[in-house]
Amino acid sequence: MAKVVFKDYSQGQISLFPTRLDEKIPEDSPARLVNQVVDNLDIRSIMDGYQGGGCSAYHPRMIMWLSGNHIPDHNTINRFRSTHLKASIHELFTQVITLLVEMGHLSLNVVYVDGTKIESKANKYTFVWRKSVEKHKVKLEEKIRQVLQQVEEGIAGDNQADDEPPTPINSEELKKRIAAINRENRSKEEQKAIKTVEDKYLPKLEEYEKHLETLGNRNSYSKTDPAATFMRMKEDHMMNGQLKPAYNVQIGTENQFITHYDFYPNPTDYLTFKPFMNGFEKRYKKFPAKVVGDSGYGSEENYKYMEINDIEGFVKYPMFHKEQKKSFQTNAFLAQNLYYNAAKDYFVCPMGQHLENVGKGTRKSENGFVSNVSYYEAQNCEGCPLKCLCNNAKGNRRIEINHQLNAYRKKSRELLTSPEGLMHRSKRPIEPEAVFGQTKANKQYNRFRHFGGDKVKMDFAIFAIAFNLGKMHKKANNTNNPAPKRIISPKLAVLKSILDFYPQQINMAA
Ligand code: SF4
Repeated sequence: MAKVVFKDYSQGQISLFPTRLDEKIPEDSPARLVNQVVDNLDIRSIMDGYQGGGCSAYHPRMIMWLSGNHIPDHNTINRFRSTHLKASIHELFTQVITLLVEMGHLSLNVVYVDGTKIESKANKYTFVWRKSVEKHKVKLEEKIRQVLQQVEEGIAGDNQADDEPPTPINSEELKKRIAAINRENRSKEEQKAIKTVEDKYLPKLEEYEKHLETLGNRNSYSKTDPAATFMRMKEDHMMNGQLKPAYNVQIGTENQFITHYDFYPNPTDYLTFKPFMNGFEKRYKKFPAKVVGDSGYGSEENYKYMEINDIEGFVKYPMFHKEQKKSFQTNAFLAQNLYYNAAKDYFVCPMGQHLENVGKGTRKSENGFVSNVSYYEAQNCEGCPLKCLCNNAKGNRRIEINHQLNAYRKKSRELLTSPEGLMHRSKRPIEPEAVFGQTKANKQYNRFRHFGGDKVKMDFAIFAIAFNLGKMHKKANNTNNPAPKRIISPKLAVLKSILDFYPQQINMAA
């Protein structure tokens, strides 16, 4: 029988010499890079948040990474996050990006934009739907109106004509009205009825008003995480299309570094583009020269925004890929393929008939952007032998054209099919999409651990900093593709030297 061997077991063991903590950390560990970056960050905004007095505090640099044998309580870390870090983390993220720009990893001249939905911590059955609230509010208002009409003829109607829709009842107005009624001598029945309004209906009305205020422009929100909106997720494990409370997270990347992020309540990407780029400009005091995005961002409003701000937009539009197909290009009946005489403002159909301009109109987008459209109509389609191939309309063929949008699309198409456009298109899958892949699949960051927009955003900022440092560390260790060499500021000399030092250590160890 083999001899049983146990590890040395002595509880009173002491060490003769104190150990150096950093000896336990390998030379090529990312922790060393984090240390250098944390030491180089300007944390004055965090320091200003400490009031002084009382027990000594842990240094914020220590709480941000290695504790050096200190053992802060989890409450200390949580307090640090919610009191000091929440306000400063976005500024710290900007500082890390500025370091990367100075080191030559980033230029901030090009941004690859994309969005994904990340689930909120809230339960999926905590929903509040706008339609439901509005429906119940209307019913409640009707009940209140009936009681008020019983109590005081004519008050509830506000001299409103019968055919007009009733004006919504405001809780503040209702309180004043109840107070006025209570000042008068009323019968017992009337007093009882008005008490029902005061005790039962008024709190419910206030609750509905609060729901609508929280909803803002959204159609839903979660009771436990009011900043989260119910959205259809790609990750639908139950395969039932159930909506879940989530955030639309938008990121901008360059060389697979996250250069900007923001959160939005609306699930559609095109509405997020303008505020996202405004946020980028606010963070770096400049717009990127080029933006690359998928067709979700290709709206007239966004193209116009890029034109005004001198941004070259390699941004697709919904029909971009279809337009490249032969079947589309050879279909002479499509409105996009009809000959257009710009000087005389008419289209020509395959039968040679003119579609004359018969009027103009406007279209309003979800966020109020107004587009101008023109309508063109053929003079007589009756008896046309090509009618079955051309259109299904009962009368003459009528088309709606947005000339401005077509001009933007033409410009975008030229950019996207140019050599530079092809290069950007080929890079898109390895830019934001790869970052999301890393984030959600590899790092399992697909559900937030906090409630509330501020906390969730702070959490993602910490993640984005860690992600960028991880990428920086990998690039520093990649001897096949070394980091670009640039003249860097003295402040960064230490950081640069340690990044240069890693590969040497690895080679020596080999
Ligand atoms: S149906 Fe009208 S618009 Fe279409 S090809 Fe015939 S004439 Fe032209």
